[in-house]
Amino acid sequence: MIVANDDGLFYLAPEADDFEAWPYPMKDRVTALSEASDGCLLIGTFARGIGRLCHDSEDWLSIENGLPNSHVLDIFTEQNGTIWIGTHGGLVQIREALFRSFTPNHGLRGAYVRSVNTDSAGHIWVGTNDGISRQLSSESGAIAFEAVNGDPQLAALSVLSLAHGDTDVVYIGSYTEGLFQLTNGKVTARLNRKLGLASNEIRVVLPMSQTDLILVGTAKGLYLVRSSLGSLDVVRHYTVADGMAADFVSSVTIDGNGALWVSSTQSLSYFRPLSDGTWQPEPIELATFTGASNIFSGTFHNNRIWFATDHGMLSRSLNGNDWQWLSRRDGLPFDKTFTINFDADDNLWLGGARGILRIAKSDLEKWMIDNRVTINYQLFTEVDGMVSRQLTTGGPASIIDKHGRLWFASALGAVMVDPRVVAEYNSHAPAPIIESITTDNGELGTDKRIEAGNTRTEFRYVALGYHMPEALLYQVKLVGYDLHWINRGNQLETAYTALPPGDYEFMVRSRYPGGDWSEATRFTLHKSAFFYQQPWFWFTFSLTVIAFVSIALHLRIRTLQYTKRRLQRLVQKKTQELEAMALRDSLTGLANRRSFDQQLDHELHNSRRYGTPLSVALIDIDYFKQINDTYLHTGGDEVLKHVAKLLQSLVREVDGVARWGGEEFAIIFPQTRISDALQVLERIRVAIEKLRIAKFEQARITVSIGVTELSKEESSAELLKHADRALYLAKEQGRNCIVTD
Ligand code: GH3
Ligand code: MG
Ligand code: MG
Repeated sequence: MIVANDDGLFYLAPEADDFEAWPYPMKDRVTALSEASDGCLLIGTFARGIGRLCHDSEDWLSIENGLPNSHVLDIFTEQNGTIWIGTHGGLVQIREALFRSFTPNHGLRGAYVRSVNTDSAGHIWVGTNDGISRQLSSESGAIAFEAVNGDPQLAALSVLSLAHGDTDVVYIGSYTEGLFQLTNGKVTARLNRKLGLASNEIRVVLPMSQTDLILVGTAKGLYLVRSSLGSLDVVRHYTVADGMAADFVSSVTIDGNGALWVSSTQSLSYFRPLSDGTWQPEPIELATFTGASNIFSGTFHNNRIWFATDHGMLSRSLNGNDWQWLSRRDGLPFDKTFTINFDADDNLWLGGARGILRIAKSDLEKWMIDNRVTINYQLFTEVDGMVSRQLTTGGPASIIDKHGRLWFASALGAVMVDPRVVAEYNSHAPAPIIESITTDNGELGTDKRIEAGNTRTEFRYVALGYHMPEALLYQVKLVGYDLHWINRGNQLETAYTALPPGDYEFMVRSRYPGGDWSEATRFTLHKSAFFYQQPWFWFTFSLTVIAFVSIALHLRIRTLQYTKRRLQRLVQKKTQELEAMALRDSLTGLANRRSFDQQLDHELHNSRRYGTPLSVALIDIDYFKQINDTYLHTGGDEVLKHVAKLLQSLVREVDGVARWGGEEFAIIFPQTRISDALQVLERIRVAIEKLRIAKFEQARITVSIGVTELSKEESSAELLKHADRALYLAKEQGRNCIVTD
């Protein structure tokens, strides 16, 4: 049990009889107590912020390093390890960061770290602008540092490089004081300008394993130095004169063939191994395959040599000339990278002036095969627990410790990350939530229906992760529209234009670069159709069109049939008229001569056949010339019409009256003896004699008539000849009379 009061902190151990004071003095009044998920004790204080007291270490968080107010009111630890702190300046949430940072507060000599390394025991050494620190041994695994200041020469040394030999020997390369050999914390040998070096600026120290030789890169050439306890002796000095591209050495990397890759600020040199254990330097023309010119460090991994440069990453396989260059052009967020490393799972870590990039193995491999694909990366900065995103250049500026953790040199301290924790986080991306769905008319309604004719539908979504939310990648798929998942990168919205009507399911999922995809979040919705966009409309429309066309065709056929019949009737009527006209006299309407002849033949035939009598009369108007002279020709025509009408009215229906010629008429009396015909003709003669025509009151019209009866064997011509002779005789006898023959 732990109790805090105004006098400090007290604890009651199990089985103990009495409280004991906390072993370390409390520097302030304790205001809150909580147990962190790792078993450490969290204490809130009145004016010093919050303290984290572990078995053998303590951390303080106050207004100086981010707490809004140093007066802590309460502390609450969530099950997931998140800590909530109530302060007088507001509520603060603290979670475990991916990175841990180590600064002078943790025992570092200086804040500006240029090199990190690990000794044979696995302890981290940190070279700073103000001396060297070394990791303290700790049973609990807590990390703390102590200054390496057993030797006054090292007290305020500005360290550029650090190296550990096969034995317990440590090499320290300084900015201005040359190279130090350190054994058990004591300087056992030095190498500098006084002792034969051309420069005191030691950028890199590289012990050659299994030998007592070390490579020392200086501002004025590369040295091969023999190192034995208490002595450092120059064996060889390589400069431009030997074939190097430049004298200034910024990094040295040994590849699997024993060749050296020595970089400078403007160039790169390849040191071809010779049989006597030395090398032949050759300059490499960087400009022929890359825009990078400053190479800050290199590493040999997976049979390839890899460099961190001022323009991204450069790599080449051991025995090929297949340079690969990855830079901002390929999607990196920045170009300037100082240090390069691979974790145990082959993920690439690039440290630069603006943070640390992690490129997952799978993404790197994909890019190596096809440089056109956009590279995925994770960028780590202060929000991930780094004390500074500004990394530094040095030898080496990043290493992997015996636990597989990566250490980086930064401008405000050393930063450390466990790549497996990152990988673990990466494999559990949170499923996104759909924030909004917007159509032309604003937010989608609760009926989940997009109106017909809507042009743009936008989905907004986000995966809620405290952990590197900006690194999350998204994929979307609109089932019913997309056939495959669509990569959206970091985009938090996806818009679709002019979706066809139908049912859809929007799916979105997220992942960290190189990690697994989260569960997909789904949303079903429907896009309505205009009536003319629906199948039933087209079905009905087609049927209607077919019906209309059928009816139109039917009507047309009917019309044509009707017209045909009408024409047929017309032709028939006209034909009948023409036929009638051929048999009628146009002036009087009586049968004409032709018709009379046909009727006469017909009656003659009947008479012969049945032995019935037949009489024929010819009637001629007397002195008709005078009528014409008196009343003109038109008047004569009028008289002819009246006479014809009168004739027609005075005979039987079976009797045939015809106009025989000019002012002559003929009458056929079928089945009539001449005596009977004479009676009729006499009535005619008298009627005409009495005829008075309104316009021609003065006209006295009379006719002469010749009549005959058919005798045996007589032809129609002979019959008519007899009638004509009778008419002639009637004229002879003084006219207005009837004569028989
Ligand atoms: P008649 O028979 O008594 O001897 O004397 P007529 O004057 O009738 O003598 P004729 O038979 O020689 O003359 C007939 C006249 O009838 C001659 C002609 O000008 C006239 N004529 C014949 N056909 C028509 C006709 O269609 N219309 C009129 N207006 N006159 C006709
Ligand atoms: Mg006549
Ligand atoms: Mg006459």
